[in-house]
Amino acid sequence: MRYHNTFGINVRCRRFAEYKNIGELYEFICSQPRTIQRLHIGKGSNLLFLNDYNGIVLRSQINDVRQLPCEEPGVVRLRVGGGLVWDTFVNRCIQHGWYGVENLSLIPGTVGAAAVQNIGAYGAEAGEFIEQVDCMNLWTGHRQVFTHDECRYGYRFSVFKTPEMQGQWAVIHVIFRLSTSFQPRLDYGGIRNELQRQGISEASLTAEQLRQTIINVRQSKLPDPKVTGNAGSFFKNPVVGREKFEQLASCYPKIPPSDVSPYEVKIPAAWLIEQSGWKGRSQGRVAVHNRQPLVLVNLGGAQGEEVRQLAYDIVTDVESRFGIHLEPEVIFIG
Ligand SMILES: Cc1cc2nc3c(=O)[nH]c(=O)nc-3n(C[C@H](O)[C@H](O)[C@H](O)COP(=O)(O)OP(=O)(O)OC[C@H]3O[C@@H](n4cnc5c(N)ncnc54)[C@H](O)[C@@H]3O)c2cc1C
Repeated sequence: MRYHNTFGINVRCRRFAEYKNIGELYEFICSQPRTIQRLHIGKGSNLLFLNDYNGIVLRSQINDVRQLPCEEPGVVRLRVGGGLVWDTFVNRCIQHGWYGVENLSLIPGTVGAAAVQNIGAYGAEAGEFIEQVDCMNLWTGHRQVFTHDECRYGYRFSVFKTPEMQGQWAVIHVIFRLSTSFQPRLDYGGIRNELQRQGISEASLTAEQLRQTIINVRQSKLPDPKVTGNAGSFFKNPVVGREKFEQLASCYPKIPPSDVSPYEVKIPAAWLIEQSGWKGRSQGRVAVHNRQPLVLVNLGGAQGEEVRQLAYDIVTDVESRFGIHLEPEVIFIG
């Protein structure tokens, strides 16, 4: 599985199967003994394998993009295969003048996983643009369509991540609703500064320029998994009550808040980790990235357990200093 997870963890699985269409997946599901566990993956960019996986790993090769009928002016509806690389989809949308997902440029992984994870970056989330998710049950082969509301999208959350639903469904196709007019969102993560640096005026900004700007900002901040094994942000940004935030702010006036509601505040996990002295620290064959403390990296040949131990040490330390428990965003397998 080493080349099927961006951490580059060298584990084995019992069986690995890719499918090119719905019929192939159905036949495969029905032909396998029910006693063997099943895991559907995309590009493995949010997974941490702790051990060999004693089950079947499935992956979609359904990569088609089809425009669906739509009577609503200014709206484009697209049915996209779950196996398509997410960034290929984003690029294709921009080339065709279908707008909305530009800020999600260069996020690793597949379209199917984007609908499970509700990927997000720079003030946008995939769930905003998803109308339906067309799935097949991994155990029975039963088909089901989940509407946007049934997906229950939230911060890095969907119904597919609930304990009852996790690991039960293969995302076959995702139906997106995009716009034919470009409405840039520039208020996040230094996009405006980068535009200024490149001498691009907001008035003349094109979607392609915005995409390139996002790519530049991401590449300057995040390690490339092809060079250094990692799974992006290891932890979610914790949300705390306003009272807890005020209490912390009185001790740490520089704490960077971001409001999520009148009662709750989101605190950057990267700030908590950096304040705890973990930025750039290594522990054997694993480390906290020296530019982005939210990212844990495999320095070469690490096992999943080593990454988990580092994550555990960080969680324990942050909790003892700030009384805030960090939740992993990365999914542990095994
Ligand atoms: C360098 C880097 C930067 C990143 N930046 C961001 C970011 O900015 N924002 C963000 O949100 N995430 C980010 N991530 C995390 C990652 O890109 C996303 O979680 C992505 O959606 C994972 O896609 P994947 O195809 O690799 O899925 P995997 O990691 O293979 O799987 C993730 C989950 O989705 C499920 N899954 C995958 N495909 C299917 C399918 N077809 N049907 C059913 N279930 C499926 C898996 O079972 C698993 O539960 C980053 C990761 C890296 C390595």
